[in-house]
Amino acid sequence: MKLIETPIEYLKGVGPVRGDLLRKELQIFTFEDLLYYFPFRYEDRTIIYRIKSLNPSMNYVQVIGKVEMMETLGSGRNLRLHVYINDGTGRLELVWFQGLKWAKQLFKSDLTYLVYGKLNYFNGTYSIPHPEVEIYDPSNGDDIKALYPVYSSTEKLKSRGLGSKGISKLVKTLLLTLEGQIQESLDEMVIDEMNLISLSKALQFIHFPPDQFSLESARLRLKFEELFYAQLSVLQLKHQRKSFSHGHTFQKVGKFFNEFYEHHLPFALTNAQKRVIREIRADLRGPRQMNRLLQGDVGSGKTLVALMVMLIALDNNYQTCLMAPTEILAQQHYNTFLEMLSGMEVEVRLLTGSTRQAERQEILNGLLENRVQILLGTHALIEDQVQFANLGLVVIDEQHRFGVEQRAKLWIKNNIPPHVLVMTATPIPRTLAMTVYGDLDYSVIDEMPPGRKPVKTILFTDSDRLMVFSFMKRQIAKGSQVYVVYPMINDSDKLELKFLEDGYISVTREFPLPEYAVSKVHGQMKPQDKEYEMQRFQKGETQIMVSTSVIEVGVDVPNATVMVIENAERFGLSQLHQLRGRVGRGDNESYCILMASDKITSDARARLDTMVNIHDGFKIADVDLILRGPGDLNGTRQSGIMKFRLADLIEDKDLLDKARNLADKILSYDPLLTQPQHAIVADQLKNKRKDLLPLSMIS
Ligand code: ADP
Ligand code: MG
Repeated sequence: MKLIETPIEYLKGVGPVRGDLLRKELQIFTFEDLLYYFPFRYEDRTIIYRIKSLNPSMNYVQVIGKVEMMETLGSGRNLRLHVYINDGTGRLELVWFQGLKWAKQLFKSDLTYLVYGKLNYFNGTYSIPHPEVEIYDPSNGDDIKALYPVYSSTEKLKSRGLGSKGISKLVKTLLLTLEGQIQESLDEMVIDEMNLISLSKALQFIHFPPDQFSLESARLRLKFEELFYAQLSVLQLKHQRKSFSHGHTFQKVGKFFNEFYEHHLPFALTNAQKRVIREIRADLRGPRQMNRLLQGDVGSGKTLVALMVMLIALDNNYQTCLMAPTEILAQQHYNTFLEMLSGMEVEVRLLTGSTRQAERQEILNGLLENRVQILLGTHALIEDQVQFANLGLVVIDEQHRFGVEQRAKLWIKNNIPPHVLVMTATPIPRTLAMTVYGDLDYSVIDEMPPGRKPVKTILFTDSDRLMVFSFMKRQIAKGSQVYVVYPMINDSDKLELKFLEDGYISVTREFPLPEYAVSKVHGQMKPQDKEYEMQRFQKGETQIMVSTSVIEVGVDVPNATVMVIENAERFGLSQLHQLRGRVGRGDNESYCILMASDKITSDARARLDTMVNIHDGFKIADVDLILRGPGDLNGTRQSGIMKFRLADLIEDKDLLDKARNLADKILSYDPLLTQPQHAIVADQLKNKRKDLLPLSMIS
């Protein structure tokens, strides 16, 4: 066993009891875990302020002084201790509301104290509540002129002497124990190229930075390492796929594609659609398997791209399938495909969880006998019984709903893996896409079909409800339809239904039969019932669709012009954007009404304002990333690549680019990292791989 893998309880000062706590409370199991348990902030103890020079804009300050006077004021719950110190330039008040007795005995009359804390300014007086206090010893200069690490801790740990200070002590012991034993984790050429400090220096400085500059070089070194290995990992997979994988070759564009293009295409393709089809086409022609991500804002026309690309598969005598995340959506794709392809001889089938047994059997046979050319469906497509004669291309719609394993199952339906096109309407900022999907090729539809009007987005609160109802009535009187969407909470069936049912009751009370008809759809309904209600709405038999966010993805009812989102503050930005994309599909002016509770936090307010002001999904995604942080983004949580300790994909974008370029450069001449100068990197990568599962990784 390496020293660094020693269980934490064997560190001097830990022992079994604290060891147990460290494991349970902070997931610190080994020396290494503690070594990588970084401070979350630092107290700047490099400066000692003169009391005279304090000003109200200061935040945390450090001063020294002798005690002039102490007094206890107030009584009962108001009891407090005031200590006045003086450094010869002025007087400063220190206040304790708790632990008065303990605080009192901290001070002796003729000693000088070093005091640190948050400065308050009130009524012309400065004070520091509950400061940190220690005896000032100028001979101990090293410790004072430094940045003090602050570690997060828990109540339980604190009660065992492992607050921030206690942890810091353990780290100090650990660093001494490991002295000279921390192995470098980057090759010399990388360190030189990037001008980095050594790993052992970086770990020393991240915990105990002598100054700001050392801290920055430590952070740079450690962040770079995180980004570099993440990039190296995805890029190596991409290189391997490009050089070693084999795929079907779709040599020609033939009668299916051409007939559709010339006679069935209902409108001119946008330039972006054309470009993306060309990009995909180039992949399909080669001997390598395609693994491409197609991003395009809601309504940018991804379905049509999918359809046309699928026709290329048919032209080359391959079968193809499209998998959608919900039954409603699969059904809708099916209708679109039937309509678009009507008059052409193409066998399109739909397979979902609710396909009847007889029909299912017939479809399964048709697939094996190569009669079914295009199969649309839901998760049902990945079941083991679904076997194709010759599957050449898989399209996955609204990717974020599918996990890695599910995609993997589709791949293995053939000896030669089919080409894969993943489509997503959750725009991910480019930086992030590069990291999360770094192993995929990437296309983007960055242009909307002509004539789209932006959806007018308005923020209301609960007290405006009557106004919203009458607005809905006016719109319905004009022949439009309305969605009213309720949040789905924690995937908990009961809560989901409560919000929805309460809402449904109030909507039907306001919009009663026979004048109005209201549909209701939610995730717990039987697929047939859902489908039935969706169709009623689609056909215009009901004017209002009350639903949970099952409606979110992809549903297309051009006559719907109003989207009311209840408890809008409970939705994420991309989800709101998706919902808003359900309207504005026809020629009429459309509206998205965000209903927020009367009391919302300023964060929530900022998010909703973003929705009101920004209509471009990519820009919204950028804001979302800033407001929520990358860890939260749809579908990225599952990816180990996102778990950075220090690196931040927004702040460290430039560093990410550098890491990526360097990784790419190395792989370009040593794809398997077998050259001796890459020995350390190769070894580290092997170890880190298990934590870095990219989305496309299969076997
Ligand atoms: P999404 O990218 O969100 O999946 P869809 O594929 O559902 O979007 O397309 C949204 C709507 O735009 C559909 O009604 C579709 O028929 C229409 N559409 C797609 N491409 C074009 C185009 N080039 N010109 C006009 N309308 C288009
Ligand atoms: Mg779509």
